Amino acid sequence: MLRQAITRSKGGLDALGTSTYPVRGVATSTSRHALETHNYHSVILDRSPIPYVASTPPLLWPERRQDTESDFWRKIPQWRDTPRDEFLSWTWGINHVIEANIKKKDKLKEFLYAMVPNELPRTHGLGGSQTRDEFVGDVVSGIRKATMSVRVMPYLLSRINWSDPVNDPIFKQFFPLGSVMVDDHPMVKMDSLNEKSDSPVDGLVHRYPDKALFLATSVCPTYCVFCTRAHDVGPDTEMISKGPARMSRERIDNVFKYIESQEGIHDIVVSGGDAFYIQPNLLEEIGDRLIAAKNIERFRFATKGLAVAPHRFLDRKDPWTDTLIRVSDKARRAGKHMALHTHFNHPNEISWITEQASLRLVQSGVSIRNQSVLLRGINDNIDTMLTLIKKLAKMVIQPYYIYQCDMVKKVEHRRTSLQTLLDIESQIQGAVAGFFIPKCIVDLPGGGGKRPASLYESYDRRTGISTFKQPALKEKGREDMVYRYYDPVDTLLHTQNPVLGRVR
Ligand code: SF4
Repeated sequence: MLRQAITRSKGGLDALGTSTYPVRGVATSTSRHALETHNYHSVILDRSPIPYVASTPPLLWPERRQDTESDFWRKIPQWRDTPRDEFLSWTWGINHVIEANIKKKDKLKEFLYAMVPNELPRTHGLGGSQTRDEFVGDVVSGIRKATMSVRVMPYLLSRINWSDPVNDPIFKQFFPLGSVMVDDHPMVKMDSLNEKSDSPVDGLVHRYPDKALFLATSVCPTYCVFCTRAHDVGPDTEMISKGPARMSRERIDNVFKYIESQEGIHDIVVSGGDAFYIQPNLLEEIGDRLIAAKNIERFRFATKGLAVAPHRFLDRKDPWTDTLIRVSDKARRAGKHMALHTHFNHPNEISWITEQASLRLVQSGVSIRNQSVLLRGINDNIDTMLTLIKKLAKMVIQPYYIYQCDMVKKVEHRRTSLQTLLDIESQIQGAVAGFFIPKCIVDLPGGGGKRPASLYESYDRRTGISTFKQPALKEKGREDMVYRYYDPVDTLLHTQNPVLGRVR
């Protein structure tokens, strides 16, 4: 459900429509010479209108596969007869989303009752089994305590092992369970990264000298229980009220006025929420304006879409992917770079549909990078991470970051100690080619920005407190500030926690 409607007056659209920004990097002799001599900034953009020619190559559809992976959604009783073409449709997916919020939980309950057996295992560590009623009650109790609503696309629902959901790495990312939640660390905050303090205009975070984050939507196709922007993203929950919808023409214009006024900004991340929920005409408008901005050299659209609904990239009736590819082409012809940043956390999220979707993007010249979040009991071991990295590499997706889970509310049971990330970083080295080794990053609580985990100033493993500095924030006078990350309390008290698994 869309929380906000994009307000578009006709005048506003005309003023900002794509025809006002017909940027093309046509290689005039001047620009060609400039590119050849690497005098990048002197490239003069030719803004004369030329017809756009789609460069998207035909899909390499696989033969109809007969293995059990082929039509994996058919194991869901209500989609047993759903043909491939229908399941691959974005519209069909949206119409069959399973969600639960403050007011409505019945549809989710009905789905869960249909999916799980009468008796199923409890969470690893608790041992034993539970009834279907106990399981559904546990999910409802989790929703009441959580900061994020439940909203999951059919694609992901079809990737879950429903005979043992509470131990499934996909289920655990998108469904809260009351029984595994623990008390928050006292230093945990709703806006852990303090983004509001670095927001010069509504909808934009400008923290680093050369880049800024444009929060263009607060809606996602699927909501993650561990979302960093839980204070802003998705509908209200019983735990937290997120305020009114904020997307408006005025807000977009103010963001662009700011971006264009800052000569030092060269790099824009367009995120939210999820760029999958930016309407195609707005996606193109944003791309065109960034390409036209003299100071902008590169930009990325951040979407979890490739992980949660990859079929959209194969749906020829849906214009989002064609628009993205068109923006990527226009950026390249203007001598700029557009990338797609996505968010896979576990290899089980990847199917033949993901492979085909990535192939379409790669064949169309779209660069893809992945950012994972390290999550306890989901991907906090070297085997899972290595498998994920290798699968990403095979799809020509750059494994870019592994983030330490942020110190946000109600995800204490999913956070790991910093040491877990350091161990994974150490073990990845040498196991895959150097250019596929992701950076292991802590996004410093309090607004210090991203810092490699291994560059801590101190790390007391007894108290779980690590300290960091961020020299890159010199212009903001923050280069000597000390930022602290706190390991989850329950990883400090015991050498072996019977409920939550391996701890230090
Ligand atoms: S996709 Fe990103 S913004 Fe959306 S809920 Fe997940 S982590 Fe949050």
